[in-house]
Amino acid sequence: MSEQFDVAVIGAGMVGASVSARLGATHKVALLEMEAQAGFHTTGRSAAIWIRNYGPPDVRVLTGLSYDFYQNPPEDIGTDRLAVGRRVLYLAPAAQTGALDALIAQDLGIEEISMARAKEICPAIIDGYAMRAGLESDGFDMDVAALHQFFLRRMRAAGGQLMLRHKAGRIERKNGVWEVETSSGAVITAPVVVNAAGAWGDEVARIAGLQPIGLVPCRRTAAIIDPAPWDVEHWPLVQSAAHDWYIRPEARAKLMVTPCDETPDVPHDVQPEELDVAIGIDRMQQALDINVRRVEHSWAGLRTFTPDRSLAFGWDNAVPGFFWCVGQGGYGIQTAPAASVLVAAMVKGEDPGPAGRIIPKINPMRFR
Ligand SMILES: Cc1cc2nc3c(=O)[nH]c(=O)nc-3n(C[C@H](O)[C@H](O)[C@H](O)COP(=O)(O)OP(=O)(O)OC[C@H]3O[C@@H](n4cnc5c(N)ncnc54)[C@H](O)[C@@H]3O)c2cc1C
Repeated sequence: MSEQFDVAVIGAGMVGASVSARLGATHKVALLEMEAQAGFHTTGRSAAIWIRNYGPPDVRVLTGLSYDFYQNPPEDIGTDRLAVGRRVLYLAPAAQTGALDALIAQDLGIEEISMARAKEICPAIIDGYAMRAGLESDGFDMDVAALHQFFLRRMRAAGGQLMLRHKAGRIERKNGVWEVETSSGAVITAPVVVNAAGAWGDEVARIAGLQPIGLVPCRRTAAIIDPAPWDVEHWPLVQSAAHDWYIRPEARAKLMVTPCDETPDVPHDVQPEELDVAIGIDRMQQALDINVRRVEHSWAGLRTFTPDRSLAFGWDNAVPGFFWCVGQGGYGIQTAPAASVLVAAMVKGEDPGPAGRIIPKINPMRFR
């Protein structure tokens, strides 16, 4: 016995949840997730920051179009802290002033500030580390869990089904529809499959008998330290202009530190390497006078990139009804509100609105 749906979305991270919520208004959606918990992989491991000037141009379009959602979310979002202001301070040592110039030249709101001003904003900066500094003022911390749950609630309220512990193990096109058999033995059919499997995106395509597009999952490590005696609550996210380390305050007395590592890996439940944690702390300590007595907690997640590091949203041209929604790299949360609107419109064949101009550039078939 199989159950029929209009769309089967594979992967219940932020991408699959948000797309399912948007499609759920008009389509019967099955959202398949192999883990016992939605968001177990990359979505639950992000740094949760929205930065306008991050990622390639197509990503920035979706980041910008998501701004209003974060600032004026729907009433039932479930938190009054979906977006909490967090400026971004860029520090440029002598060898990185070119990188700072390039950031400022984009004209997307990064202004150069004096080192004296930078030190007022983040008093731990070590004299002599940086020659110049830039400040981006409209960044914010995102409540990722609240946003993810909001999309899952929306999807369910519209009659969609979240099917946890259902790994899509067989995906076959038969008589004009997809038949998806899961690890729990369920068989569902749907004319459309949306591949929102993150690091597993190429694997899901292979299961469906399609060629991969060259996705590369890359490990990124993060650690939480206690920066006492500093009170860091109102510090900005501080990073090198070349983006080889950053810190991000977590409440009053915690700091997240990362070496901005990007180590190619395979899709799995990735764990942090001690060496990467140590590199992150070492780079931070070259810039900031912070004594690290112990690492309270560390984790790693897979940021998955396409070969040109931009998004891959669109239909596979080898078979009808297989839609790719992958390549969100380090920007899948901040882009989710607008990206999901775009993807739902593309799947339905409707007017995609202002994001439509990026569709030709993010076609996954550019890698074939
Ligand atoms: C350290 C770190 C910091 C980051 N910081 C930020 C940030 O500040 N801002 C930002 O916007 N982004 C950030 N990101 C990136 C962001 O987290 C990702 O872009 C986003 O979570 C990707 O969501 P996803 O739904 O594609 O992936 P995932 O959350 O990994 O979801 C994919 C899901 O597919 C499921 N799946 C795979 N194969 C199958 C199958 N065969 N059947 C059923 N289910 C399957 C998996 O179990 C998984 O749950 C960060 C990432 C990391 C690791």
